[in-house]
Amino acid sequence: MSFEFYRKLPTPQEIKNMYPVPEAIAKKKEENDKEIRKVFTGESDKFILIIGPCSADNEEALLDYTNRLKDIQEKVKDKIIIIPRVYTNKPRTTGKGYKGMLHQPDPEKAPDLLQGLITIRHLFLKIMENTGFPIADEMLYPENHRYFSDILSYVAVGARSVEDQQHRLTTSGIDIPVGMKNPTSGDLSIMLNSIEAAQAGHSFLYRGWDVETSGNDIAHAILRGAVNQYGQCIPNYHYEDLIQLYDMYIKKGFANPAVVVDTNHSNSNKQYLEQIRIAKEIMHNRKHSPELKSFVKGLMVESYIEDGAQKVGEGIYGKSITDPCIGWDKTVELINIVYGYL
Ligand code: PEP
Ligand code: MN
Repeated sequence: MSFEFYRKLPTPQEIKNMYPVPEAIAKKKEENDKEIRKVFTGESDKFILIIGPCSADNEEALLDYTNRLKDIQEKVKDKIIIIPRVYTNKPRTTGKGYKGMLHQPDPEKAPDLLQGLITIRHLFLKIMENTGFPIADEMLYPENHRYFSDILSYVAVGARSVEDQQHRLTTSGIDIPVGMKNPTSGDLSIMLNSIEAAQAGHSFLYRGWDVETSGNDIAHAILRGAVNQYGQCIPNYHYEDLIQLYDMYIKKGFANPAVVVDTNHSNSNKQYLEQIRIAKEIMHNRKHSPELKSFVKGLMVESYIEDGAQKVGEGIYGKSITDPCIGWDKTVELINIVYGYL
């Protein structure tokens, strides 16, 4: 046998019972979710900023980072809802490298999935307790979603997962906004098919159960740029790209047309410092067109305490060990710029 069944992990319900969400936090999450839902349904014209490091690699740095964000959130709360990216699962292009906190709660130590589940719940709950922020993560493994479904307020389906049926069907049973990214090829029809699938109800097999879902009416698009057959990045955040997607979206007749634009990844060609310029351009274009103003609901930004990225083991506090991020000062600058356009 080539699989070694090393140990049986607790079920999501067991983990939730072991590390329950305190009542006050559950209440705050409910309020947050209502506020965020209103943005996606168009009842609120607040702008969403999903912002944080590429990967949540270290509890201390994440708590420090989200505490800093809290001070800014206070200043911009009349126009912006900040949702920290606390990304605990990392899709890897070749399968190699750090796969996130779930696999390695300490990036310098061996994988430990049970400790990963516990560390993530602890980190999420601590951030909520300290700041009251809603939390965003990527749903890399659909079967794991329910370990954290009582905590998360925003979920993204990544560029490498968006064509996968299990991701689409699982999204159809989630009642918070789920952003479906364009695939790495950039094919918008794949992303739109994925939104169509996610907005409809399905019956399927999930975690050993025969389940039925009712559809997610706030599943929406995330544009993250693309890579062509020669390995060159093709951004898709420009005015024409947004209008093109808007037209395609309206033709499809989906509920709650919405897009979030990712300013890093193949939109910046990982030239992370470009994120400020890219954010400016999107905010400007949003002002230029009433359609885009209601369609572009938010930005996704990769930001941390230090500029850039480092290798695992270099040990620089608050510096990304996956994609390069803008550091703290530039993060403040970016949020102020976005606020200025609203
Ligand atoms: C990410 O958000 O860090 C990420 C891996 O994104 P994508 O799926 O767009 O590559
Ligand atoms: Mn990233």
